Amino acid sequence: MSAGLPNRFRTDWAGDLRDGDAGREVRVAGWVHRRRDHGGLVFIDLRDRSGLVQLVFHPEDASEAHSTAHGLRSEDVITAIGQVVARDAGQVNPDLPTGAIELSVKGIQLLAGAETPPFPVDEDGPVDELVRLRNRAVDLRRESMSSALKLRHRVTRTIRNTLDELGFVDVETPVLTKSTPEGARDFLVPSRTSPGEFFALPQSPQLFKQLLMVGGIERYYQIARCFRDEDLRADRQPEFTQLDLEMSFVDEDDVIEVMEQVLTSVFEAAELKVPAAPWPRMTHAESISRFGNDRPDTRFGLELRDVGSALAGTEFKVFAGALANGGVIWGINAGSTEVPRSELDALTEIAKKHGAGGLVWAFVEEGSGWRSPVGKFLTDAERQGVIDSLEASTGDLMLIVADSRDVAAAALGAIRLDLGERRGLVAQGHHEALWITDFPMFERDSADGRWTALHHPFTAPSGDISDPGSLHSRAYDIVLDGVEIGGGSIRIHDQETQNAVFEAIGLAADEAEERFGFLLSALRQGAPPHGGIALGLDRLVAICAGRSSIRDVIAFPKSASSQDPLTGAPTAVDPAQLREVGLATLPKDGLGRPGNG
Ligand code: ASP
Repeated sequence: MSAGLPNRFRTDWAGDLRDGDAGREVRVAGWVHRRRDHGGLVFIDLRDRSGLVQLVFHPEDASEAHSTAHGLRSEDVITAIGQVVARDAGQVNPDLPTGAIELSVKGIQLLAGAETPPFPVDEDGPVDELVRLRNRAVDLRRESMSSALKLRHRVTRTIRNTLDELGFVDVETPVLTKSTPEGARDFLVPSRTSPGEFFALPQSPQLFKQLLMVGGIERYYQIARCFRDEDLRADRQPEFTQLDLEMSFVDEDDVIEVMEQVLTSVFEAAELKVPAAPWPRMTHAESISRFGNDRPDTRFGLELRDVGSALAGTEFKVFAGALANGGVIWGINAGSTEVPRSELDALTEIAKKHGAGGLVWAFVEEGSGWRSPVGKFLTDAERQGVIDSLEASTGDLMLIVADSRDVAAAALGAIRLDLGERRGLVAQGHHEALWITDFPMFERDSADGRWTALHHPFTAPSGDISDPGSLHSRAYDIVLDGVEIGGGSIRIHDQETQNAVFEAIGLAADEAEERFGFLLSALRQGAPPHGGIALGLDRLVAICAGRSSIRDVIAFPKSASSQDPLTGAPTAVDPAQLREVGLATLPKDGLGRPGNG
């Protein structure tokens, strides 16, 4: 780390000094991390990017330096020169890499003073996030932030090195472009030179990377910024970073293999212990029926089971009704721990939040018995059938949802995760990666009932295109610890299939031509079979760093409400600027949104 040294401010990095340096005269530079004034001696921990070193100021040997040191405050910027001396045996600090030595200072210069910091830099206590984001420059000095950014650098460097070895070419794609549908709203940028017209910021480089394949690049990657204007769900950012890649003349296995190599090298660099690749693959349908969602946390059990066949002839209305409506009855064996009523109420609330009418709970008793509000509505055989389906034994708690398949999955999937967390079922340091494959190609839009592409409409379908509901797609997602960290697909590479998919999602031919004509034309110009994937870099680094918020691994993130507390963006602009781009704003209504007047 010593390139460019010595210079005017330092000969050495503070954190690199060791007892072998004793006797050398060195110059260091950085921030006043902590100062202790012992009447006679003054001690300063000087911090630079590499760590800390203790400076000691003796009043007799260096009176001028001593009096300067006496007046210094936390976070002042200094450079100091002095001799490295071994500390007395009793003074060695085993917790500090430089703890065997200190610097006996003979000269010091104050380079810049610092206001009292808004929060202490020398401890990692909790600080209100808004205060941290408003004072990000100070926040970045804290060990937790600087180590996260260094880890992020190691991860991206590893990605670049691995992909370089595999023959991938880093190509930049435009940020001012046209809408790329990834399921979110576009950010729009008004054009001054074409007033009334707009660029869209890319939701992903999807179409450009496909054009690069038609262009013969064969193996492309980019660490790309993507923009999606969504109502922020917890821990999303309106602009975020993807590792985006695409390959020609490949099928699913080729892309998956490359991604396993990339991630293996990342996990190694980040010292994250993940079982060795190849990672297990699970179909989408299996993931839903066993875990209730398509990003299963396979690090603990409590899997979902279908108990419907045990209740096929039941007269209990809640169960019979669900089955008659084409729904399912699914359950979880939650084991034999004592569960207070308040927890059962909390689990019921989770089920309701995910659309279920309620949650049936039952403790297994001797002889087909259920201790449950609904036990009396079932026959012995039905109760025993459910117990058998859930492989439950006396004392076990069974949790059951009767509803549509989607609702039962969502409700029990969420309950399962809640139980996993509540009971601490995932051991510290336990990580699991797996692939989800065989997605449905389309899903019904909840608002208007139309088909929409589950991945995106450039994904190759498998099956009979004339029956959209039955189609599967050649998509794959990579899941780490119950988090979807990436996804991709083999693409459509002929115009006919692409048009058929557009038609299935209700995009008329002329509209498809208007929006995606450049892609359709490329598909007529000799498009190789191709496919790719994108990884969410922010989330990946957060998992590697053991942070729960992606904002902790982004230097300058937006707040949870999509604002930038640091710069104040977004802000109003000068009316003249608006005129230049042919825009006028509407007055705000009482909610701060544009109104109609
Ligand atoms: N463009 C996709 C996304 O951003 C990834 C891919 O299909 O490669 O999710």
